[in-house]
Amino acid sequence: MNFCSQCGSSDLECKTPEGDHKDRWICTQCQFIHYVNPKIIVGCIPIWEGKVMIAKRGIEPRYGLWNLPCGFMETLETVEEGAVREVFEETGSEVELIRLHTVYNLLHEHQVYLIFLANMKSAHFQTTLESTEIDLFTEETVPWTEMAFTSSTFALQNYFNDMRTGNTSIHFGTYQKK
Ligand SMILES: [Zn+2]
Repeated sequence: MNFCSQCGSSDLECKTPEGDHKDRWICTQCQFIHYVNPKIIVGCIPIWEGKVMIAKRGIEPRYGLWNLPCGFMETLETVEEGAVREVFEETGSEVELIRLHTVYNLLHEHQVYLIFLANMKSAHFQTTLESTEIDLFTEETVPWTEMAFTSSTFALQNYFNDMRTGNTSIHFGTYQKK
């Protein structure tokens, strides 16, 4: 952190505030404490006739690799609204949520993924600025070696396992860079 977000001062120090348990960037001018908390990423496993829809990323990071439609939650929306919105923005597809499927902690990126199971309302999807290619996949045809993020791989592997076992519990996963 280079500047105080409150007063613009560059005079910051990293220390543990009284009564706290962790170092924070604190402005020596206005005393503002800069708390850094994880961001929430919302998205879906969109399903159509037993297949899942994934999209090839048209933006960095991981340009050209495949991913479930997911993105940062916006302020003043619910996680459910965000998940539906992200699918529509990235693929033009309208979905109806079934239930929460995956909670995935991406510790080093300070992100938490909330991925829902969702039924596509129709077979319609279209490429967008964010997605250069979109398709429906079975477990056998998912491009497993060309996936952008471990969160999607984790969710999809569990989804296909659930189809075999009938498991309907929420899956919790964590990835931490070694
Ligand atoms: Zn300040």
